[in-house]
Amino acid sequence: MTKDRSRSRRRVKVKTPGGRVVIRLERRKPKQARCARCGKPLHGVPRELPSKMKNLPKTKKRPERPYGGYLCSECMREVIKQMAVEKFSKDLEK
Ligand SMILES: [Zn+2]
Repeated sequence: MTKDRSRSRRRVKVKTPGGRVVIRLERRKPKQARCARCGKPLHGVPRELPSKMKNLPKTKKRPERPYGGYLCSECMREVIKQMAVEKFSKDLEK
């Protein structure tokens, strides 16, 4: 292989059935998912390659709540409160 010295793939030491230790090149995992509003890392969102994410059930890929996997819990609360306040003030105008 020509791209052995490339750092775009991570080196993983794997023991073969014959007892040898072989360096295997694997793709790096994607970055941790982050909240779209504050940028905090999101919990409950796995750092897996697309090929593995495909085989995971949807319930294991993000929290099951409104804006789950997009906003963190605090931001979700604030956004929902803000929307409720806006709706309430609009209703008063009528
Ligand atoms: Zn947030």
